[in-house]
Amino acid sequence: MSMFKDIPVDVGVIYEGERIRRNDMYVEFGGPDIKEKFELARVKKPEEIEDGKITIVGPDLKDMQEGKSYSFGILIEVAGPQLEPELEGVIERRIHAYCNFIEGFMHLNQRYDIWMRLSKKSFQKGLNSFEYIGKVLHRLFKSELPIIEKMQVTFFTDQEKVKSLYDEALRIYDARDARARGLKDEEVDKFYGCALCQSFAPTHVCVITPQRYSNCGAISWFDGRAAASIDPKGPVFTIEKGEMLDAEKGEFSGVNEAVKKKSLSEITRVWLYTGFGYPHTSCGCFEGVAFYIPEVDGFGIVHRGYKEVSVNGLAFSTIADSTAGGRQVDGFHGISIEYMRSPKFLQADGGWKRVVWLPKEVKERVKDFIPAELVDKVATEEDAKTVDELKAFLKEHNHPVVEHWKEEAIAVAEAVPAETGEEVPTMPVVTAATLPLTAGGFKIILKDAKIYAKKVIIRSEKSEKKGESVGKK
Ligand code: ZN
Repeated sequence: MSMFKDIPVDVGVIYEGERIRRNDMYVEFGGPDIKEKFELARVKKPEEIEDGKITIVGPDLKDMQEGKSYSFGILIEVAGPQLEPELEGVIERRIHAYCNFIEGFMHLNQRYDIWMRLSKKSFQKGLNSFEYIGKVLHRLFKSELPIIEKMQVTFFTDQEKVKSLYDEALRIYDARDARARGLKDEEVDKFYGCALCQSFAPTHVCVITPQRYSNCGAISWFDGRAAASIDPKGPVFTIEKGEMLDAEKGEFSGVNEAVKKKSLSEITRVWLYTGFGYPHTSCGCFEGVAFYIPEVDGFGIVHRGYKEVSVNGLAFSTIADSTAGGRQVDGFHGISIEYMRSPKFLQADGGWKRVVWLPKEVKERVKDFIPAELVDKVATEEDAKTVDELKAFLKEHNHPVVEHWKEEAIAVAEAVPAETGEEVPTMPVVTAATLPLTAGGFKIILKDAKIYAKKVIIRSEKSEKKGESVGKK
């Protein structure tokens, strides 16, 4: 692109999906080793903005030590006669895409979760100042979003300064999220889709409804509407809701069609309010994951910032790996924190009644949205660190899933007519360290087995003639 002649590295869409591994990185900003980091966009009055101004508060790239992780904040301030504060979220989310256009510069996640890396190669090519990154952002923002008339960029790498602005940024995000609450999915006829993450997860389409934030937690339905109107050819588009096929699970004909089209027929069906069956796809930038724990028949939740292993013995990164990539993984569900505040949150699975464990930090943030009678029944790492401890905690506190354990036991004992003709989502029905099976004269032993089934038929040898079958959801 000729508009970047004075930038020492290439700039273009082709670099969007580029990953920079630790061995290839010169320095990184934010990420898991740095607690305070943020990106923020603000709409200002024209007289407050000096167009094209780039400010660096703290050490610049060339003053940094190779291999280190730095505190980081980026503030984008914009002005223009048609700009409203409602557009701040949309503008802010573009930082992700535009940073990734820069060769050898990687941007992951959003808001207070950002993680950026500069490659050794690009540093050696001369990308040694935030001035260049600021220039690229300034030009891309103004050419892609012409309603931005003036824009200035400030980079913060001074640790103390980042710390002091971090809390303010959190307050701004909270206020923005609170503004978007209240509208119901039933009250609108349009949803919005976001394909911004397809560079990393090619079959992923975020479906953004009033009561379901984007996975990244950075785009509300209002943001979606604003983005689609100011940049109709951009990554955020309108989805006509169409016919409601299932109110409980959240299936809509228009959503199915849009997702099918945008995922090139890879995904044909989406249930918005459940982690089972056809759950919403998960990109890679989700703020947290809801993961099914078969031993207690409930969902655990773990967020990106959680450092320890979660209650099932797996770290966030491991759970995220088995969830991400634009797939629909039964029982693994990438979510935003704001979605946990929604009445539609895992509605078809029982909502908060089905949540059994989450880190204390997240619980504090969403506490006011957990039904009062359940708050003390949902465990954190302070209550349970293993599944066994969790079982004991849930029993002791009489968590609603415990009631379900009894039903399960009864269901297995009773014979239930199995053929309903309805498609039943698969979920693990048997989990065992060793599971011996006998078939056709062979004995097969499965180690660490998880069996997924649409229907379970249990026949004891004695009742073989009666042919008892047990249907199970
Ligand atoms: Zn994403």
